[in-house]
Amino acid sequence: MSTYEQLLAQVVATAGEGETREVFDPATGDLIGIAPVQGVAELEAAIDRAEAAQPAWAALSDDERIAYLNRAADAIEAAAEPLAELLSREQGKPLNGPNARFEVGGCVAWTRAAAGTPLPVEVLIDDESGYAEMHYRPIGVVGAISPWNWPMMISIWQIAPSLRMGNTVVLKPAETTTLSVLALVKVMNEVLPEGVLNIVPGPGRTVGDALTRSPRIGKIMFTGSTPTGKRIIEASAPNVTRLTLELGGNDAGIVLPDVDPKEIAENLFWGAFINTGQTCAALKRLYVHDDVYDEVVEELAKVAANMPMGVGLEDQNVLGPLQNKAQFDIVDRLVESAKSSGARVVMGGDPDRDQPGYFYPTTLIADIDAHQDLVLEEQFGPALPIIRYSDVDEAVKLANELEVGLGASVWSSDRDKARELAARIQAGTVWINSHGGLHPMVPFGGAKQSGYGREFGTLGLKAVAEPQVVSG
Ligand code: NDP
Repeated sequence: MSTYEQLLAQVVATAGEGETREVFDPATGDLIGIAPVQGVAELEAAIDRAEAAQPAWAALSDDERIAYLNRAADAIEAAAEPLAELLSREQGKPLNGPNARFEVGGCVAWTRAAAGTPLPVEVLIDDESGYAEMHYRPIGVVGAISPWNWPMMISIWQIAPSLRMGNTVVLKPAETTTLSVLALVKVMNEVLPEGVLNIVPGPGRTVGDALTRSPRIGKIMFTGSTPTGKRIIEASAPNVTRLTLELGGNDAGIVLPDVDPKEIAENLFWGAFINTGQTCAALKRLYVHDDVYDEVVEELAKVAANMPMGVGLEDQNVLGPLQNKAQFDIVDRLVESAKSSGARVVMGGDPDRDQPGYFYPTTLIADIDAHQDLVLEEQFGPALPIIRYSDVDEAVKLANELEVGLGASVWSSDRDKARELAARIQAGTVWINSHGGLHPMVPFGGAKQSGYGREFGTLGLKAVAEPQVVSG
């Protein structure tokens, strides 16, 4: 088992002779390592390797590929601590809480789930009208493009089902979390056959773009922003490349007047502030009924005041910095705009702009107009707007009025009433009395401009396969 220092040294050694980039800790500004910056030539070479390895990988039995995936999960588990430490230093998220150790644990769980989900041949008809069965064949080479917020776990969501179904993979990680994903792939490649899993650390606008334009890529798995998702649709259209797009959201939560504010406060907090708000399916706009508004805001503020934010390697912290300066600036701009609109700052909203890290304090903004920028735009950070409503139909209308619809939540002590309301909300998942919990067997994805396709479970496996009917 390697230590953190050994793992980082091995990853940095892959930087080689070519172009490199210094990587800084977003919490302290300290230099943590040197990452390779590759280009389109290295991408083409990676696709060559993936194409060369694919027939033999596809020719293995399902059980053999399952065994490889389980060995990859064991390898991640054995390297969990150094992986979590690198993730914490590069991404900024703390080791503890639902953060770095949790993310590495998620990589293990999702790899095992992709290995363990049965996908038998489906008999479609078998009667006097005929016989037909459905097989799920490999597509070929899958191109995976992952973001910086959950860089290891989201890469695994793309890699593990693709490999299970007999595809090989070329992965492009986000530029600002390259080392973490290089380390993850290095650990997995200790047990996977050569050429099956390839990684090309390079910029989205060149390497990412070329990956999505390549006629040699059969399927793109993408998680990131809606504008980039639209670019990928255009770039891949000439090849009719299959796409799964998990794009941005701006998830609404609707709190009904029958809740116990004290009881829901902690779930509300983590729904909004998990990963310091940098989560696609986090609660980003909270609509609270007038009858319980003041109490919900008060209870939420009490919970938030007890959640320490700081450097990830310090044990007590459960919230970290924003991962990069661009994201800090988005949160800062939106909160400033809310403040100047006359909304009430319950807590936070006053970052120290001279600090070396990108810390933005936990911020609750109350009595904000339903059409203020902080409500309408995705903040993707630790600042929650809380909107007062008095008519539930109006709250549903506001929840549905945006172009995105990844997740949503309804909060009520009456589960049936909450389920009825869920049916009226346009989102890929509606949680009741919680927000953002994912399970490897439960399909996840967005409605409207939050993307298309579903990940996880049987649906997720089918999404990285070519359905083939054998009839007669
Ligand atoms: P992007 O969508 O630009 O980045 C996501 C991934 O796409 C990265 O690997 C990026 O590479 C790559 N990429 C960028 N441009 C292209 C392209 N033309 N073709 C192919 N791949 C490309 O998101 P940002 O990092 O710019 O974040 C902006 C906003 O997106 C955030 O504020 C947030 O609102 C949202 N977001 C949503 C996420 C989610 O989980 N759904 C995750 C991250 C962000 P590179 O890093 O090298 O640019």
